[in-house]
Amino acid sequence: VVVVGGGPAGIAAAVSAARRGAKVVLLERQGFLGGNLTAGLVGPCMTSYSLDGATQLIRGIFDEFVTRMVDLDGAIHPSKTNAGDKYASFITYGHDKVTPFEPEAAKLVANRMCLEAGVDIRFHAFVVDAVVEGDTVVGVIYADKEGLHHQRAAVVVDCSADGDVAAYAGNRFDYGRPEDGLAQPMTMFFRVSGVDDNVVENYVDDHPTEPRVYAEIIDAARANGTFPVPRRSVGMYKTLKPGVWRINSTRLHGLDGTIAADVTKGEIEGREQANALMAFMRENFPGFENAELLDTAATVGVRETRRIVGQYELTLDDLQTGRHFDDVIAMCGYPVDIHDPTGAGGGTAPSWATANIYEIPFRSLVPRDRKGLLVAGRCMSASHEAMSATRVMPPAFAMGEAAGAAAALAISNDVDPRDLPVGTLQDSLVEHGAYLGTR
Ligand SMILES: Cc1cc2nc3c(=O)[nH]c(=O)nc-3n(C[C@H](O)[C@H](O)[C@H](O)COP(=O)(O)OP(=O)(O)OC[C@H]3O[C@@H](n4cnc5c(N)ncnc54)[C@H](O)[C@@H]3O)c2cc1C
Repeated sequence: VVVVGGGPAGIAAAVSAARRGAKVVLLERQGFLGGNLTAGLVGPCMTSYSLDGATQLIRGIFDEFVTRMVDLDGAIHPSKTNAGDKYASFITYGHDKVTPFEPEAAKLVANRMCLEAGVDIRFHAFVVDAVVEGDTVVGVIYADKEGLHHQRAAVVVDCSADGDVAAYAGNRFDYGRPEDGLAQPMTMFFRVSGVDDNVVENYVDDHPTEPRVYAEIIDAARANGTFPVPRRSVGMYKTLKPGVWRINSTRLHGLDGTIAADVTKGEIEGREQANALMAFMRENFPGFENAELLDTAATVGVRETRRIVGQYELTLDDLQTGRHFDDVIAMCGYPVDIHDPTGAGGGTAPSWATANIYEIPFRSLVPRDRKGLLVAGRCMSASHEAMSATRVMPPAFAMGEAAGAAAALAISNDVDPRDLPVGTLQDSLVEHGAYLGTR
């Protein structure tokens, strides 16, 4: 099994396949695992629970990963956080039971879980093409310092977030929202240190403008043209370290995460915005008087690119009705969270209500046009709206776990992943600690 991309989906896919006896190669272009968990400085992990916060839905490898970070004092288990608290940027809707964590703990735990399972990790390996025979993917081409390599595979699990392998192999994909093809904006995450946590919390208590923290200050600055980013709110998430917060607030419109020149532009402009926001916050936000820029993310955060056309496209209606699928492989509760592709607004909102629990079917991980291939994580088969809910990190872990298991089971059963009896996959997932409700 060749897993492409070592983010949340790829870590879970690699561990899951290796634990089921497959020989696994994990190709990651960075020098560490985690994807947005680490390179993107994205956090906290949004909810792994039902929308009402009552039931933990995403367990298995995700929960093991979190528990091992907790053991290193590098995370708080989601059962111990609450909607509206400082770890959730004081947001209530859709923000119950998040998982704050430290990126360094994520890097360490990801390495350890992969190595213990026997995964062959190859860093600095940028996959640049797919090898296809007929309609079957049989390998990938990747580049590293030594040049180009051909890696054969019985099954490739594409966890690149952009669906690179599926696209190189010629599988169809969709991009952006239906009306104009525009994708959600990018964001350069950054962290600040030296914040007076008590002052922030007291200020928020005294100025309840939830979900928009410091809303009066931001609105006044937007009115007189001094707010430095094209966004109407600041997302600020307390980390485990005193005085350190993650800021999810820069906004980069009109860029395509599959075009290197656009990503470069996002990274340059994103760091300018982070710097300008830092100065604005220091000057205007009570509690930030002595704050400093701790770091910007290694890579700009890309919310949306290709959505691979699979055997089933998950829709907004499926999420809103909580539709049951016989081939369910993951259950989720994070609601729709669309950031405006052209404007300043967006985020989770009750107006986009989803069911308390919704399901992801296996067919949404099976590309329609190519065999020997599965996708997991952000590039799954889903509509623009549905993807905006399933794109967060816990569902990516759950999809990766399912895709890795399916790849390994397909090999041991000598079938293409699409022909694997889904009951076999579901039984194996449950046996390994995943939760699929009461199917
Ligand atoms: C700005 C922003 C804010 C977000 N906020 C949150 C949040 O607060 N909480 C939350 O849970 N989720 C959040 N998300 C969503 C979440 O971070 C991602 O959607 C999620 O990480 C997707 O997981 P993934 O494994 O599919 O992809 P990624 O995390 O993107 O991982 C993909 C991996 O593949 C590697 N890769 C890509 N292409 C190749 C290639 N060709 N060859 C080799 N390696 C490759 C990358 O280097 C990376 O390691 C946010 C996303 C963004 C962009």
